[in-house]
Amino acid sequence: MGFCLFGNVALAAHYARQVHGARRVLVVDWDVHHGNGTQALVECEPDIHFVSMHQWPWYPGTGAATDRGPHDSVWNAPMPPSLAPEVYVDALESAIDAATTGFVPDLVLISAGFDSLASDPLGGFTLELEHVVRLTEGLVQRAESWCAGRVVSALEGGYAPDQLGEACVAHLAALG
Ligand SMILES: [Zn+2]
Repeated sequence: MGFCLFGNVALAAHYARQVHGARRVLVVDWDVHHGNGTQALVECEPDIHFVSMHQWPWYPGTGAATDRGPHDSVWNAPMPPSLAPEVYVDALESAIDAATTGFVPDLVLISAGFDSLASDPLGGFTLELEHVVRLTEGLVQRAESWCAGRVVSALEGGYAPDQLGEACVAHLAALG
């Protein structure tokens, strides 16, 4: 829908399954926009579970909670802007836990969009660096129990350059 030339994370999910022998892949998208392209590219594969938390209503207008995809393998968490940051963290972690109930991923892919941080010009979420760290560490801990810690993160949105840089450093440090 205009932000991406290629659906990098969706391509990675399919490539991991087809070339590297991964069977089940979890994609977690915390970019402030719904990952509509990713969803479109993975929702027909029931062994790829997709979790997206995004501002709602907001561009691109997709990603209702009732949109579970044709195989119920999509967990959309649409959220209003300007809530306390802990609310977003809890909502995303709840969706991750729902998406992995009875589904143990071999690989976790993160659509790491940092336009979900406070003061980003394109988003109304309120996350700070500490919440990026908490979300990252939570996923790493889960991945350690699921699949020996296999996590791959891809940078997505983020439109305040200094803040984006700080978020990347915090995220990378928390990935270990
Ligand atoms: Zn975005």
